[in-house]
Amino acid sequence: MKILKYPHPILKYKCKPLQKINQELRDIVAELFETMYAASGVGLAANQVGLPFQLFVMNAAGNKEMKDEEYVFINPVILRKSGKAVDNEGCLSFPDLHADVVRSETIEVESISLTGEIQHFKWKDRPARIVQHEIDHLNGIGFVDHLSAAATREVRSELDDMHTIFEGDQRLGFVSIESAIQELKEYEQKFC
Ligand code: ZN
Repeated sequence: MKILKYPHPILKYKCKPLQKINQELRDIVAELFETMYAASGVGLAANQVGLPFQLFVMNAAGNKEMKDEEYVFINPVILRKSGKAVDNEGCLSFPDLHADVVRSETIEVESISLTGEIQHFKWKDRPARIVQHEIDHLNGIGFVDHLSAAATREVRSELDDMHTIFEGDQRLGFVSIESAIQELKEYEQKFC
């Protein structure tokens, strides 16, 4: 799996609810975790690797050995949020970019597990921040979309650089939006 980088249009894609849980999906989830660990991440959303469904994985410890920290969220919904907290965030789709983001401090989330059961979790602090960040991804929202106009100006040149790199990769054939969208549609037919 390849992590799509800003400004790839699939990062703006609103993921569809997942309707099918089968062995192929379990393999995809295992690969999502591998891809996340290889990139030293703590969360990874399906559309960050070009998949069209509402699913993300998380290991807030970022430690491959800590399997009890691994969580899979299918069709997640935030039921309640409370409090406000500011902290520095980064994103695997925005390499080297960091900025302060205001998020809810505590959230209550309902989602489906990989065995098809409804799961209810209350998250606080860092995991709550990761879950909100990943659910944003599934709705086509990147963490930079939360920045104020002034904070956006501060990261403007980095975003412009990412545009330049992305366009260069397209010209050289390293990135093909057309084939990525075609693949996305195939997965959508199969799973949504
Ligand atoms: Zn991210």
